[in-house]
Amino acid sequence: MSLVSSLQTTSTVPNQSGLTVAKFGGTSVADFDAMQRCADIIIANPQTRVVVVSASSGVTNQLVALTQEGNSSEQSKALIKQIASIQYQILDKLQNPGEIAAKIDRILSHIATLSERLKLTRSKAVIDELLSQGEACSSVFFAAVLREKGACATAFDVRQVLRTDSHHGKAEPQIETIAELAQAQLQPLLASQVIVTQGFVGADSEGNTTTLGRGGSDYSAALLAEALKADAVEIWTDVAGIYTTDPRLAPNASPIAEISFNEAAEMATFGAKVLHPATILPAVRQKIQVFVGSSWAPEQGGTWIRHKVSSEPVYRAVALRRDQTLLNLHSLQMLHAQGFLAETFATLARHKISVDLITTSEVNVALTLDKTGSDSSGQGLLSEALLQELSQHCRVRVEDGLALVAVIGNNIASTAGVCRRVFEVLESYNVRMICQGASPHNLCILVDEAEAGNVIRALHENLFEA
Ligand code: ADP
Ligand code: ASP
Ligand code: MG
Repeated sequence: MSLVSSLQTTSTVPNQSGLTVAKFGGTSVADFDAMQRCADIIIANPQTRVVVVSASSGVTNQLVALTQEGNSSEQSKALIKQIASIQYQILDKLQNPGEIAAKIDRILSHIATLSERLKLTRSKAVIDELLSQGEACSSVFFAAVLREKGACATAFDVRQVLRTDSHHGKAEPQIETIAELAQAQLQPLLASQVIVTQGFVGADSEGNTTTLGRGGSDYSAALLAEALKADAVEIWTDVAGIYTTDPRLAPNASPIAEISFNEAAEMATFGAKVLHPATILPAVRQKIQVFVGSSWAPEQGGTWIRHKVSSEPVYRAVALRRDQTLLNLHSLQMLHAQGFLAETFATLARHKISVDLITTSEVNVALTLDKTGSDSSGQGLLSEALLQELSQHCRVRVEDGLALVAVIGNNIASTAGVCRRVFEVLESYNVRMICQGASPHNLCILVDEAEAGNVIRALHENLFEA
């Protein structure tokens, strides 16, 4: 059963609130001109009352670099200068920068203070507070750009409503509390204004800033849409929808007009970066339609992700997830014994590691872990402590440099000929691991990272361009 079909939907009819939540990613708010294009999209649709923004392109990466241990003062200063330069380029183009300039300067000096504080104590709470500053800047700017275009828009601190646990770097949202807080604090504002708020960011019950993991702004938009019972979530990015594969990898990839929640969830889980993997969950719970389109070319349309779609092809897309780690666990204890897997998974769970693919033999278990799913600051998944704990009951071998390729579609496990078609393409590649059958929606293979792009192109050509 797939991620989504295993969930119970809480509503039987789609919402009819007349509300759309729109999210704009990093490239869409990269600079003043990009923000202007996005403002036009919002103004064209009066239903859009909540806008979720990412940090301007590159800013979160620079903030992550700023959190790394061992930065010299010069390195930290250079990074802060780069962040400031992105912000000042936007500021310079505002008609009335006065009040906004003061706000941005306050955020920039907060960044400098937090960076100094991190040199004294490595605190995950301080790291999250630092990482959240990119979204703080872009939300202030974006509300100002909207106001310059005549909209009544206000920047809103998402930490007032987006309550999470305290697992810094990959915090877990608390759905019911978010709904209560959003209904009380956000809903009343929407009648008179467009609210611009930060993606990726939350706060725990003590008010400490948390983050949802890299790419988490899509998830934020879906969570707010769920809390406010919105009709639709729009994810505005730099491509005109979800394609049959990443168009940067395969130029012949084509946009998909309509796709089911199940297929989209599988695509996001298996690496289609255009959507954060958790985005679909709130949408499914409230049956909220999700639209993905390009803020650079909204007229091109995009992809609608819906509960029910008119066609369910066997082959929908191919996805690629790089940076996979393969853990090979060998133990003679497994031979005719019980409990080895339970013990292994309990250890991984204690270290908050989620497993993606798994295959077993009589005395071996091979499982893949996803580095891209690690926390916001890109901290490695495999700590020494975890490896030592695992080594107490088995021999552990770690392989890096692998990539996961997934064929996504419908009835894959019950359609004759799928494996033949996929494996004929793979004739000249080394396939390190194969997983199929758990979900009707995917067939996954693990290949060498260096060959992954060619594997994707070859599969795409065979399945979609023939
Ligand atoms: P944003 O900053 O707007 O959140 P992202 O970079 O996170 O944007 O996601 C958009 C990118 O996702 C695209 O530029 C594209 O390269 C990549 N991508 C990967 N797989 C797909 C796919 N199947 N369809 C469209 N885009 C994809
Ligand atoms: N700014 C964050 C990141 O770069 C969140 C996002 O863009 O979705 O990961
Ligand atoms: Mg993204």
